[in-house]
Amino acid sequence: MPRPGGASSAYLVRSGAAAILLDAGTGSFAKLALAIDYRQLGAIVISHMHSDHFFDLVPFRYTLKYGHLPLQRRLSLWLPPGGRNRLDALRHAVSVDAAADFFESVFDVREYEASDPLIVGDVTLRFRRTHHFVETYAARADCNGASITYSADTGPCDAVVDLARGASVFLCEAGFGLQRDEAAQSGHCTAEEAGEMAQQAGVTRLVLTHYPAAFQPQALVDAAKRRFAGSVVAAQDGLTQEL
Ligand SMILES: [Zn+2]
Ligand SMILES: [Zn+2]
Repeated sequence: MPRPGGASSAYLVRSGAAAILLDAGTGSFAKLALAIDYRQLGAIVISHMHSDHFFDLVPFRYTLKYGHLPLQRRLSLWLPPGGRNRLDALRHAVSVDAAADFFESVFDVREYEASDPLIVGDVTLRFRRTHHFVETYAARADCNGASITYSADTGPCDAVVDLARGASVFLCEAGFGLQRDEAAQSGHCTAEEAGEMAQQAGVTRLVLTHYPAAFQPQALVDAAKRRFAGSVVAAQDGLTQEL
């Protein structure tokens, strides 16, 4: 749930030779423009097909199609396995007469294989399936010895810990905030559980994200620090981390 003036999940990973957008949640496309000219993007990679992670592909598509800064190529859009069908459902929801190539006319739409690394410029992306309500993939980006692992949406998950092993930054969701909703299935983490995964993975820095607006960021940081000895920050819109 975006905060006032804020956006849902989207993370821009930049290196010397690549710019990759991990997820494109509600309201994120306008935020992206504050950070980068979208024509510099090498790829968009979607972790899973929940609205708070991919709905802004719609305004992105309209901008690429009709905006005043045309892109001379189709932008690489990588979806999780099965993502094409969900994107096609969104096309029908947006417009009853949307052309079959509504998205494909501006995006080079493909589905990644969790077992295959994805190379974008000088960045290598690797994936592991998370523990969430739909098929979801955490992503790790490596470049010149620096690395960031993005948990996507997940409950506590050994595969995500494996993926994050030794990462410079572990960007981990804390969708349950301070307390697990006992009635809910374990498809999200508390801040403490995010700290536990960071500790197990031996990362340098933990960045908490995807946490409910009702919680004070500092309280979440304190909770994570009870389990994790490294540095912890709570993400805010526009937060930048140097690796
Ligand atoms: Zn989700
Ligand atoms: Zn989510």
